[in-house]
Amino acid sequence: MDKCGKIGIIGLGLIGGSIALALREKYDVKGMSRNPDTVKYALDAGMISSVADTYSDFTDCVAVIVCTPLALVEKTVKDVLAAVGDKTIVTDVGSVKGMLCGIKGRIIGGHPMAGTEQSGIRAAKERLLENAYYILVDYNGNPGDLEVIRNVVLACGAVPVVMTAEEHDRLVAKISHLEHMAAYSLVSSAMTGDEEIVGSGFTDTTRIASSDPSFWNTVARLNRDNLVREMDGYIATLSSLRNDIAAGRDVTPVLAAAKEKRDKLRYKKRFMTDYVLYVDVPDCVGSIVGVLGKLADAGISISNLTVMHSREGAGGALRLELKDEQGYKKAKEILA
Ligand code: NAP
Repeated sequence: MDKCGKIGIIGLGLIGGSIALALREKYDVKGMSRNPDTVKYALDAGMISSVADTYSDFTDCVAVIVCTPLALVEKTVKDVLAAVGDKTIVTDVGSVKGMLCGIKGRIIGGHPMAGTEQSGIRAAKERLLENAYYILVDYNGNPGDLEVIRNVVLACGAVPVVMTAEEHDRLVAKISHLEHMAAYSLVSSAMTGDEEIVGSGFTDTTRIASSDPSFWNTVARLNRDNLVREMDGYIATLSSLRNDIAAGRDVTPVLAAAKEKRDKLRYKKRFMTDYVLYVDVPDCVGSIVGVLGKLADAGISISNLTVMHSREGAGGALRLELKDEQGYKKAKEILA
């Protein structure tokens, strides 16, 4: 197949490596990483077809994607722009977008809303970004460049969504950054460290407290104002609940209002699919395969799968996201 051009990737870790794997069929991928072992691994594994030694080596690329750690993204983007001039579009994958506002040139911001708790090139996966929302920010009004990066995102199998940096940072403060700080605080407050028994409520709400602390410190620094505003709102809500409980008031209406909001989430949220099914599965060999097999036999494709509330000997639930309404209705009928 004829390639669509050359794409550069700086920082061949979890995200950079996964993008390289996803793009290599459609584009020639030129890679750069600080560690020679990483570059050798990428070449040997066929993730990249050529290597850049300096940023100016990317001038033969349509675009270069900065995938370095978040704390380095701003400096790397500026240095790369200075080296490539207007020959190459510069884009990034950083989890905060405001820090790139005001930088002139051919820059399109990016944030793939996908990841795992692992890091480094060996954790890279060809399908990591498949069906994930991928936010794009056109900082300087370059619609042609935005279109090029949109096509790169589509080639990764991701779903491009365009917004401003302010919208992005406000959104992620609300739907991700606050939750991480709440999870860390919950663990700090509730755990003494020698617990032998924890409830599923605790594990469900604190899973993300195992995320990399230095990454989240950088996020808090770069998105400080939005995060502080969200934390203030959360503290006020928690205080009000605490005061109601301390005063012996009936908190059912407060909890019911929150439950109603949570239950409606799937109908409202722009970033969540409407086509979700929950299937109870017993804890026995083949039960999950049985469910997936029925869907596969009917030619139904699922876009996401999560195993929930799984306890040894007690079964659990499968959360299935279907691609469209037709698949959702058909799957519901079959699994009923
Ligand atoms: P990662 O797996 O640690 O990869 C980062 C790569 O950058 C490493 O492979 C490393 O390459 C290189 N690097 C590390 N320190 C460096 C330094 N001081 N100077 C130059 N290069 C350095 O991290 P990642 O999860 O892919 O994250 C990369 C970017 O993706 C971040 O900006 C993050 O905000 C964004 N992002 C992450 C996720 C996620 O869930 N992980 C999701 C969305 C966006 P060597 O191996 O050569 O040292």
